[in-house]
Amino acid sequence: MNRFEVMRGLLADSKYFKLVCGAGNENAAEVRRLALVYTLAGANGFDVSAKPDVVKACGEGIDLAYANADHFGVTVPVRPFITVSVGMPGDHHVRKAFIIDDCVSCDLCIPVCPTDAIPESLEIIPELCIGCGNCEAACPPKVAAVRYRHNGKELAELLPRCIEAGAENIELHAAVPGDDAILEEWAMVDAAQPDNYISMCLDRYHLSNVQLIERIRAAYEVAGERTIIQADGVPMSGGSDDHNTTLQAVAIADVIQKDLKDKERTFRDLPILLSGGTNGKTAEMARLCDVPYQGVSIGTHARGIVKGWVNEEGFEDDLEAVGRALGPAADLVSRSVAA
Ligand code: SF4
Ligand code: SF4
Repeated sequence: MNRFEVMRGLLADSKYFKLVCGAGNENAAEVRRLALVYTLAGANGFDVSAKPDVVKACGEGIDLAYANADHFGVTVPVRPFITVSVGMPGDHHVRKAFIIDDCVSCDLCIPVCPTDAIPESLEIIPELCIGCGNCEAACPPKVAAVRYRHNGKELAELLPRCIEAGAENIELHAAVPGDDAILEEWAMVDAAQPDNYISMCLDRYHLSNVQLIERIRAAYEVAGERTIIQADGVPMSGGSDDHNTTLQAVAIADVIQKDLKDKERTFRDLPILLSGGTNGKTAEMARLCDVPYQGVSIGTHARGIVKGWVNEEGFEDDLEAVGRALGPAADLVSRSVAA
């Protein structure tokens, strides 16, 4: 079986779990540690920033997991797939926040940052910023001192380097209005990875249900059976582990199921990944609502539950700390995929 067929099997069995390290997360050391813990925990996919050194770090973390699997009595039946995320200008996943001079130093933004990217100096650390927008939301409206830079990448040059570094899948974050530019970038993504799945990440912030379905059709026309749709409920909102937070992630999958997959034979097997507000309740919610899904993609919540250990000095060499992080991570993975 080639790697495309392996991934198709995981999706067909609803056993694909992707840990999202963050499209804007360029902290290679953290990505390596997350890959170590979540490979042991049973994740079979990682989503990382489109930077070759970050892709390599992810691969190293996976290798470390294999090296330590016996110690934890774990088998890793499928080497996890590494996805690199790229995005359109305007998409939340590929922007970096910065603070302008109007800032009144009230510090309200510091505690709400999920990646500790805002130090006391209030100079946001770009490598840590994942563009979630929490700081903007916390900033008093009269001050409004948070702005963004698009973390644009030269796709045609960058993607082959990421694939050489070990990436097997590419995800285009396309949650912006307007189709032409998106389809141009999608064609470039398709050309860069003609042998395995490529994924388009969509939400309903700018798109009506009808536009959402039309965009999926257009994506499928280019990449055919190699298309995955990552259905983003509310991007990067999954910090809380409750049903309401994950409601929209299930709702958008339900729209795609009813308005497209149930109606047209061509799309019957189109893989849908639940994302955007995903947490420990996502799979339960989808099952309760009878919404089928082929995989789950979890970021903020999955990183948050291991953050205390992963950020410890010398984590990778401290198997006790790895073991402690492994508990909640494995529990999340097993609750998220089909038994
Ligand atoms: S709160 Fe979000 S957008 Fe703001 S600095 Fe932190 S990661 Fe970046
Ligand atoms: S919340 Fe706004 S005003 Fe307050 S410190 Fe942060 S950027 Fe400055």
